[in-house]
Amino acid sequence: MIRNSDLLQRSLAAVWHPCTQMKQHAAAVEALPLVPVARGKGVWLYDFDGRRYLDGISSWWVNLFGHGHPGINAALREQLEELEHVILAGFTHRPVVELSERLSALTGGTLGHCFYASDGASATEIALKMSFHSWQNRGRTAKQEFLCLAGSYHGETVGALAVTDVALFKDAYAPLIRVARTVPTPDARLAEAGETPVEVARRAAAVLEGHLQRHHQNIAALIVEPLIQCASGMAMYDPEYLRLARSLCDRYEVHLICDEIAVGCGRTGTFFAHQQAAIRPDFLCLSKGISGGYLPLSIVMTTDAVYADFYDDSTRRGFLHSHSYTGNALACRAALATLDIFADEQVIDTNRALAAHLGDCLQPLAEHLQVRHLRQRGMIAAFDVVSDDPQFSQRFYRYALANEILLRPIGNTVYFMPPYVITDEECKFLVARATVALEAALRS
Ligand SMILES: *Cc1c(COP(=O)(O)O)cnc(C)c1O
Repeated sequence: MIRNSDLLQRSLAAVWHPCTQMKQHAAAVEALPLVPVARGKGVWLYDFDGRRYLDGISSWWVNLFGHGHPGINAALREQLEELEHVILAGFTHRPVVELSERLSALTGGTLGHCFYASDGASATEIALKMSFHSWQNRGRTAKQEFLCLAGSYHGETVGALAVTDVALFKDAYAPLIRVARTVPTPDARLAEAGETPVEVARRAAAVLEGHLQRHHQNIAALIVEPLIQCASGMAMYDPEYLRLARSLCDRYEVHLICDEIAVGCGRTGTFFAHQQAAIRPDFLCLSKGISGGYLPLSIVMTTDAVYADFYDDSTRRGFLHSHSYTGNALACRAALATLDIFADEQVIDTNRALAAHLGDCLQPLAEHLQVRHLRQRGMIAAFDVVSDDPQFSQRFYRYALANEILLRPIGNTVYFMPPYVITDEECKFLVARATVALEAALRS
């Protein structure tokens, strides 16, 4: 029988773990635990030593319907018997066609063209390249710049870092990056005394307007995460900003890219987050939850107008971008099974009650002396902790694991992004144990 200890040292020796200073796993004092996971079922992860952990962050925001979901498992088994993968240049297959049609239908047909890749950062880069290239093809050759919001996160490849405003991920590579210009974030926490979230949104949009007025001739696209800037600490903002940004982009002929890699797939209470502002993006990036957390898949959806900019006798005017696993059949099939669950189980509706319950569980924390800005939209909830301990996040994470929950604060922001299959009881458990971990982290 395998034990945790059998895998621990081997993993540290051979696997370079993501987003990690590896030495912290090795340090003798207060070492960061590395958890070998043997299996998962629903919201639970189990290690080899019989301990369990409630996956309160959906394994980095990808897992929508729990681990080992019977419906997705069955769909993948069936797909395995038919076709695992085929080159998507010159060939096509049923899962990629059906997925493209169904996603397009979910946008009311406004984004009728789906381009495929395997991860979120690639989706960001595809959207940036497509926007730039479509303006080039139209003869608008000066449009070579991009705008992003302060605190934006759109992935960590060299191209995606251009529009990612997180110093920790970016600064080390500064000489390699062609940095986009940032405009103020509409983050509702930045409200001045008496200011409402809508007013914060309008104030931020006014700066965007000034910038577009001066520079629109050089700007190809504005990229935003609709409603919530997740990776920079679950910064939530009013949909008013998206309405204003959309109309400014129209007025100044700038594309609007909605990066819904994290906020899409029902996370914020609608299938797409931008729907809450009743706007239509020119590009929509999807990844993470779209395959139910099973397989790497990302999609960039765009309009007939952009598609038409590339449709030509000239090869060079085409979009000659590719990834080896573009449109992987298994990943597309997992996505179809995921969309089936949304349809069959009315997930958007049932999530409303679940989100309300999560909010009720969290409410007592609003009174906590060291908690600020308790906030929630749909199945994402967060609060900021008042602590000047630079180790708070790691300490909390360790105490959370010791209390059978997986939560990874971003700096001093503790957030909850559980799979949609979490029960009311498990919600209570998650918040109760998070409260214990919070007290422990603050005491230590
Ligand atoms: C995670 C994320 C990305 C990057 O996706 P990867 O698959 O990690 O490359 C891009 N944008 C947003 C909003 C994300 O949350």
